Amino acid sequence: MPDAGWVRAIATIALVLLGFVVAPAAWARGGTPLATCIARVQPGDAARAMFASPARFDCRTPQTSFGGGDYWVLAPRLPQMASAGTSVRTGSVWQHRVTLYIRYADGAVRQTGFTSRTTGRHLRLGAIIQLPLPAHAAPPVQLLWHVERSLNLRGIVIGATLVDDADAARGEVVTAALYATFAGMCLALLIYNLALWAALRQRFQPAYCLMVLCLLAYTSTSSGLVGQLTGIDNNDRLRLNYLFLAMSAATALVFARAFFERRVFDGWLRPTSDAVIALLLGTAGAYALCAPRFAAIIDPLATSSYLALVLLVVPILWRAARQRSNYLWIFALAWGGPVILAIFRIAAAFNLIHWNFWIDNSTLGSMAMEAVLSSLGVAYRIRLLSLERDDWRQQESAARTLADTDPLTGLLNRRAFLDRAIGREGEQMLLIADIDHFKAINETIGHDGGDEVLRTIARALRAAVPPDALVARIGGEEFAIVAPLPSGLKAAAVLERLRRERMPHDVAVTASIGACFGALLREADWQAMYRCADQALFEAKAKGRDRAHDVGALARAA
Ligand code: GH3
Ligand code: MG
Ligand code: MG
Repeated sequence: MPDAGWVRAIATIALVLLGFVVAPAAWARGGTPLATCIARVQPGDAARAMFASPARFDCRTPQTSFGGGDYWVLAPRLPQMASAGTSVRTGSVWQHRVTLYIRYADGAVRQTGFTSRTTGRHLRLGAIIQLPLPAHAAPPVQLLWHVERSLNLRGIVIGATLVDDADAARGEVVTAALYATFAGMCLALLIYNLALWAALRQRFQPAYCLMVLCLLAYTSTSSGLVGQLTGIDNNDRLRLNYLFLAMSAATALVFARAFFERRVFDGWLRPTSDAVIALLLGTAGAYALCAPRFAAIIDPLATSSYLALVLLVVPILWRAARQRSNYLWIFALAWGGPVILAIFRIAAAFNLIHWNFWIDNSTLGSMAMEAVLSSLGVAYRIRLLSLERDDWRQQESAARTLADTDPLTGLLNRRAFLDRAIGREGEQMLLIADIDHFKAINETIGHDGGDEVLRTIARALRAAVPPDALVARIGGEEFAIVAPLPSGLKAAAVLERLRRERMPHDVAVTASIGACFGALLREADWQAMYRCADQALFEAKAKGRDRAHDVGALARAA
């Protein structure tokens, strides 16, 4: 389970981000919304005549109900504004040519407009098309758009507002700051996570980077920045936009799959998410290649793929909860914003709710949240990985200790003793202790009693030696001790300590010790030292046992 500190910290960051994105966006919005009425273009129609025939216009039916084609769109009432320094803003949609007619209070009609090819010149951040009203002495009273080859998937003329140019310019600066913040943050996250990937090689890391890259690409097209900079045909920009949004959604799902523990996507969830990814990319690809042809079929299919993605989040969360995933909470936080927004977008795409500024422009905020929170999720995952690694290291060291230990006495076994003893710098004292007549002891108190004696001797030896000494059981009833010469290990003192030890069943136990000191740098040193100490032990045994024989320096003994 996640620790409360992490949950609190990340939830706080999510809230701050939300405030950071929402507040300036609200300020940047501005402008006076205009009501619009629709009339189909009929052969022989002219702008002046259309201004004079308000009865031809339908002001009630939602725009998207009219389908694709050529239309007149009338804004019958304008707020009181001078024509100089005033612009009309509309959302960018698929169309071939737009001519805007302005009727002024003195009866004059003037026109302006753009085609999909020249849209770039009028694009503002947030993919808003901003047309300045031609200056005229009298104020404007009505607007009439003539729209050719509108695809009308989202509307014919959407989000029309009248703005003061100075206000619009200020809003543009705020919006630019927002986009720059988002882009800078994405770039930083991208570089940081790529660097982390180089170090950690977890498969969720490239998936995360790919997702952020797609978000950046989508932002560049959806903001209109690509249109402003390259002057690309606006309809082609919309194709790219369509594609990049689908890629962002698909890579987000790929990231989620890589991010969660494998078991969360086991069973039907994996092939189903494959299918959703294929549907997202397939429909977007088809739209990008074919639009405006088949758009009426492809668009609802594409919208359905987003619906499928949103619906898929339910079983993912459910499975993650059932599988007790560590990442459920952070996934829910990171995806919460985009999922709620996607639900609104889908509802708008199916024309259940009207297109509005917030649906379009909160994308940036929810993507920022997703990118940042997912990155925190990555950090959290790495934290769990490092905990896992610490745990594993501990287990490994426990296993190694077990492998190095003589199970009966808990002393080092012969192999581990040699591993550690050979190579020690400086002169080393080596003691070999062997229990006297152990066969007889076994016969007297039984084999289990003999084992108990071995354990007692082991305890006594450990207590008798300095802390930096190695104590091992190197044979049945044979022990070895190595300690640096300056530590003052004495064979006689060890023997004295053994004599004081109370033995199981009060059986009398004595031992003999052979000792010798010298270098212990190499295997050959060990062999010479062992031969020397063993010879000393043999002499102690020969002289009647229960004694220590220290021959001193190996060189002198040889
Ligand atoms: P000496 O004084 O010459 O060393 O005589 P000893 O009987 O101690 O020597 P010997 O090498 O003849 O016998 C060692 C005995 O130690 C033989 C074996 O049964 C016993 N022994 C070896 N390992 C164990 C063990 O793990 N537990 C018990 N209880 N006895 C063991
Ligand atoms: Mg013995
Ligand atoms: Mg022996």
